[in-house]
Amino acid sequence: MTDVVVVGAGQAGASVVAKLRAEGFAGTITLIGAEKVPPYQRPPLSKAYLLGDMAQERLYLRPAGFYADQDIALRLDTRVVAIDPAAQTITLTGDETLRYDHLVLATGAHPRTLPAAIGGTLDGVYAMRDLADADALAPELVAGRQVLIVGGGYIGLEAAAVAAKRGLRVTLVEMADRILQRVAAPQTSDYFRALHRAHGVTIRESVGLDRLLGDTRVTGARLTDGTELSIDFAIVGAGVTPATVLADSAGLHVGNGITTDSHGRTSDPHIWAAGDCASCLFHGNRIRLESVGNAIDQAEAVALNIMGRDLPYLPKPWFWSDQYDCKLQIAGLNTGYTHVHLRKGETPGSQSHWYYRGADLLAVDAMNDPRNYMIGKRLIEAGRSPDPALIIAPATDMKALLT
Ligand code: FAD
Repeated sequence: MTDVVVVGAGQAGASVVAKLRAEGFAGTITLIGAEKVPPYQRPPLSKAYLLGDMAQERLYLRPAGFYADQDIALRLDTRVVAIDPAAQTITLTGDETLRYDHLVLATGAHPRTLPAAIGGTLDGVYAMRDLADADALAPELVAGRQVLIVGGGYIGLEAAAVAAKRGLRVTLVEMADRILQRVAAPQTSDYFRALHRAHGVTIRESVGLDRLLGDTRVTGARLTDGTELSIDFAIVGAGVTPATVLADSAGLHVGNGITTDSHGRTSDPHIWAAGDCASCLFHGNRIRLESVGNAIDQAEAVALNIMGRDLPYLPKPWFWSDQYDCKLQIAGLNTGYTHVHLRKGETPGSQSHWYYRGADLLAVDAMNDPRNYMIGKRLIEAGRSPDPALIIAPATDMKALLT
């Protein structure tokens, strides 16, 4: 009997085990998660769930009986503390050991926190990664209160949108010269800056946090330009780092994430990695994606490869973000773009930004424009690059570009 053990009961871990059973894997499967709850979706934590529009039950990826029905041993509130690759065993908290034939690392990522020296450990300072973080933060969202959001990436902006919708006074600081600088073009930053300002959010760019102020609980913040704000609480959305400690101490190759080959295998032939923790190959480059789509696809490829299917995994990046009444959908990866072309959509506020490197289409950001998102996604996946003059021309029949 083949024993598969999966470390990390998040999106990728849950996808590996479900795919194995769906494909008829007959060995034993153990899914181990440090959190107290079964695998759930994280995206709503900074969107509908935080807003109070989605019940906790709807976050769960599978119905309550799924794991037992599928003969998957789900061990929650349990942390894997060590891997012994030579013996093919792992150690859990409490010193229990488990043997594996295949081990999958689906350990996700940790949110970057602020150092204690600048007030990062004061009460009233929140991260946004886990259900427990969202549940701790939710009671703070009371109309009229003042929140500081540190970081203008997608999670910070989504938290700002929720807080503004709930009637809070919101200030967001981004130390780079524009929000979304790491992930999007200036045109996309401009769109979201204007959207947030229209909802009353104060966005401060090229300004960082100097320190949070307060004795035991945060009461204020000093910014790098010397401004002092009085605040009721703070949310830190400063990005994540891949959870690689286990892999590192087991001697696996680790760079920006756990290094995997084209099939999802790490530097140890019996150990695989998938999701936010894994660094994978994309057209000859090493990348690490932080998205649901990648967590599912990479995990499913690993499951099939464990079963000997010999399938290379080529990421098809896609992502979304919800802010107010805007749905942003992104297809492709814009790394290395040289030009961005704007196409106006058919309804007010809808538009898409098309990223090119020279003549090659790399990615599309579509704001309230699902049709052009889908067309862009299909073009990118097919490796096709329409002339940008067609993209910007209002008269172009975009669907015809697919034929
Ligand atoms: P995770 O879902 O983080 O799961 C990893 C699990 O492993 C965790 O439960 C962790 O506790 C556990 N673990 C780690 N180490 C151990 C150990 N040693 N022992 C046992 N268990 C361990 N993506 C999108 O595509 N669109 C979005 O709109 C979007 N919004 C997001 C909003 C928020 C607030 C967050 C936090 C993420 C969002 N993402 C979004 C990203 C997406 O949720 C992640 O890319 C996805 O969850 C990655 O799945 P994963 O399984 O790799 O990691």
